[in-house]
Parts: sequence; C-alpha cells; structure tokens
Amino acid sequence: MIRYMLREDSYQYKPVKHDEAFWQLLRETFPNARCELNYRNIYELAISVILSAQSTDKAVNEVTPALFKKYPRIEALAEATEEKVIPYIKKLGLYKNKANHIIQFAKTVQADFDGVIPSTIEELILLPGVGRKTANVIVSEGFGLPGLAVDTHVERVSKRLGLVSPTDNSYQVELKLKRLLPPEKWHEVHHQLIFMGRYLCLARKPRCSLCPFREEYCQMIHHKK
Ligand code: SF4
Repeated sequence: MIRYMLREDSYQYKPVKHDEAFWQLLRETFPNARCELNYRNIYELAISVILSAQSTDKAVNEVTPALFKKYPRIEALAEATEEKVIPYIKKLGLYKNKANHIIQFAKTVQADFDGVIPSTIEELILLPGVGRKTANVIVSEGFGLPGLAVDTHVERVSKRLGLVSPTDNSYQVELKLKRLLPPEKWHEVHHQLIFMGRYLCLARKPRCSLCPFREEYCQMIHHKK
C-alpha cells in the first residue's frame, strides 16, 4: 500500500464541483453510515450525546447501560448528585464536568420544559451541556427533523474535501453544509461524513491510498512516503 504524508496546512485549493456525482459517491462509499450511540429514547440519546464530548461512542456505550439502569428517566437524573453519578461515567474523559452537565440538563428540562426535552435547536442550546452539535444531533437523530451536527470528523473531512474553507469554524461549516444540501439530506450526509472521518479520512493517518475521493476532490497535497 502506498503511504501518503500530509499536513493540515497542505491545502492546494483546487476548484471542485460538488455535484450529484460527489454525493452519490459519498453514499456508495458509506452505505451503512448511522448513529453509533446506543439509545432507546430521546432522553438516553441526549444524555449519550452530552457524554460523547471528547469520548468515543464505543466508550459511551460501555457506561450508559448501568447509568440508565440506575437513572431510567430524566426525573431520576434531575434528583441525582454528582457524587452519585460520577462512578457510572468515570471511565470517560471530563467525567466531572459531564456529571454536572447531565444533572443540570435534567434539572433544567424538568424546571423549564415540564420534563419534556425540546425539539428545536434554539431551545436546546439554552440547556446546560448542549452546544450546536449536540442540539443538531438531538433534533435530527431523536426527532427526525432537519439538523446537521458538525463534530471534529465532519469539520475535518468537509475541509479536506473542499466542501468548506480550511479557515471556517464549526458554525460556519454547519451553515455552509446546510446551504449546499436540501434539509432532507442533512441527516444522512452528517453520518456519511462522520463515517468517513472515523474509518477512512482519519485525523493523523488518513487512508489515502484507499480513498475514492483522492484524485478528484481531495484538497490536500499528498507526498509519497
Ligand atoms: S479525503 Fe481521502 S485522500 Fe484526502 S486526506 Fe482524506 S483520506 Fe486522504
């Protein structure tokens, strides 16, 4: 296998047309792209997404069964203390902050939304621990409404494929991707870009020799090792 070396500043800014052929290739390359968090309802999805900040979905899936057995509903979590929750999520990074966030999230949903997790991005981002990424996941994955969450994979891959500018922040990436696509495509493309970031276009060692986007779409300069 040919090994390629690339640096994040190795953009070549080649003009690329992201027409239907591009989106078709993305679909065909990642036909099984989907949410890899395990959840049974919107409460479990929301808590899992908050816990997934800087942790893998696999790590989150390992801790949530016991957490949700102990706190099966949002009312129960709203009554919990950090000391009680921490042992369940201690394997995750930032577990102290996350314990605080999920409890405060539950308390705020109880107090301000009658215990019902809201379904709009504008309301969700008012909740503790919820940024635009988490809000978009809850809206699209949980409620089946248009949403396109930009995590580290979506941002990196979108830049490498020339979908957005290398200097865009995550909010600009979200807005640009949403402008490029009709709302009914946001959810599936979000998952396809995440799968590409997880399994092909890895941050440090992208598998460029296997990549069907390399010749026509990739913005990175490839140096053969
Ligand atoms: S898009 Fe493909 S060719 Fe470009 S860096 Fe990612 S894996 Fe490599």
